[in-house]
Amino acid sequence: MVGTAGEDDVRAWLAAARQVTALTGAGISTESGIPDFRGPQGVWTKDPAAQRLFTLQSYVADPAVRRLAWRNRRDHPAWAAEPNAGHRALVGLEREGRLRAIITQNIDGLHQRAGSDPASVIEIHGTLFEVDCLSCGGRTGMRENLDRVAAGEDDPACLTCGGIQKAATISFGQALRPEVLRQAALAAADCDVLLAVGTSLQVQPAAGLAEVAVRAGARLVIVNLDPTPYDSIAHAVVREPIGTVLPRLVTSSVAWRSQR
Ligand SMILES: [Zn+2]
Repeated sequence: MVGTAGEDDVRAWLAAARQVTALTGAGISTESGIPDFRGPQGVWTKDPAAQRLFTLQSYVADPAVRRLAWRNRRDHPAWAAEPNAGHRALVGLEREGRLRAIITQNIDGLHQRAGSDPASVIEIHGTLFEVDCLSCGGRTGMRENLDRVAAGEDDPACLTCGGIQKAATISFGQALRPEVLRQAALAAADCDVLLAVGTSLQVQPAAGLAEVAVRAGARLVIVNLDPTPYDSIAHAVVREPIGTVLPRLVTSSVAWRSQR
């Protein structure tokens, strides 16, 4: 723990909260074997050239980038990853009827795989498991497109209009979806506790949601191994492995409530 509030305080806040909004980032999935792209050991931190693959401009301009991107989608660790205790802890909150929403920066679908209601998961950076046509906006499943890649198409075009297709994730240089952002801002403003888990809070506008919550009167609890720019406005900062500490914080809140 960092700062004046202790783990008991966080448990008490969570126990008393009627609505909790979680904001999750790469850190909650690293324990499932999915690498963090921006952290100290991140893929992009160690190899800035890899980041170029994820700019919309180079994707549209360069067929070689698209071919490599389709192979990366096929080989993405999310296909084999399993949800961990951190994901499951948030399912527990939902089953108590106290989870307002999970806003996630992750594209790996692990919250839904853990059992979270897809309707309560707001994927601000999109999802790996769907594909958008950049021309007509048509949406299809990732698996059916990867089947076409496996069958020999190295850059499968839209079957409706022939346009370039891309994973339904937000690339660098690509705007976030306004409707999704609006949902995220509403969920951040409408909670008693914003639980920011495994996010470095360095990427806008996701990071600004922490401030939205605090301004709306919520307590901000940051669970992250590394310092974040929002630690100074947080009511508590927890620097322990998520899969260990999150079940403890949330499960205890269940026990506390049942004792009352
Ligand atoms: Zn199309």
